[in-house]
Amino acid sequence: MADLEATHRAIMTCTACALHKARANAVPGEGSPNARVMFVGEGPGFNEDRQGRPFVGAAGQFLNELLESIGLRREDVYITNMVKCRPPNNRDPFPGEIAACSGYMDEQIEAIDPDIIVPLGRHALARWFPRETISKLRAKPKRFGHATVLPLYHPAAALHNGNLRSTIVDDFRKIGDLLKGIGVPPPAAADPQPPTSLLDQPQQPASAPDERPTPPTPQERSETQQLHLL
Ligand code: SF4
Repeated sequence: MADLEATHRAIMTCTACALHKARANAVPGEGSPNARVMFVGEGPGFNEDRQGRPFVGAAGQFLNELLESIGLRREDVYITNMVKCRPPNNRDPFPGEIAACSGYMDEQIEAIDPDIIVPLGRHALARWFPRETISKLRAKPKRFGHATVLPLYHPAAALHNGNLRSTIVDDFRKIGDLLKGIGVPPPAAADPQPPTSLLDQPQQPASAPDERPTPPTPQERSETQQLHLL
């Protein structure tokens, strides 16, 4: 059985790929070691690198609100990324970097043994479904081993494309449905609230989401995790 704390310690001093050279902090992941739901993003962004914690920028705040909307808190789930060190300038992680880091993900999944794994965005999706697109598989649960994998858009996508916000909110409800289906009602499921404070903006006419969001400004790049999230 993998030891989650030992994996975290190994990540903190890892030099297995070039991403260690420019990091301020490695970002192993955080949350409950007994989480039933595990979220997997792409990689740390500017704020995550500075704080050594996943999803702490604007996208992270939206993720917190999405969790609250289905009666979950950050401490109820486990949150990590495909690569644990920030790619320079928030570029996409290279395949070799993802491969070098994948063993840590294996250990985290083995240690936590979640019922539901939620890949956020296309890079995380590729770990389980390498030839599929996130727009095709989003919100479609699939069995993978004894876990259910539920790919969703990355929360940062809503920062760049307001049309996706309501889609992401709706898709998140599937997590609550899956938990109920396996007999795990969320702690506050009796009174879920839709997220309202962040990214609350007039809804634009519905349209099919593109594979990639509109590129953000340089400041947004530093506040959100990655450019290419879909
Ligand atoms: S990204 Fe992963 S493999 Fe690369 S140095 Fe960081 S922890 Fe090690």
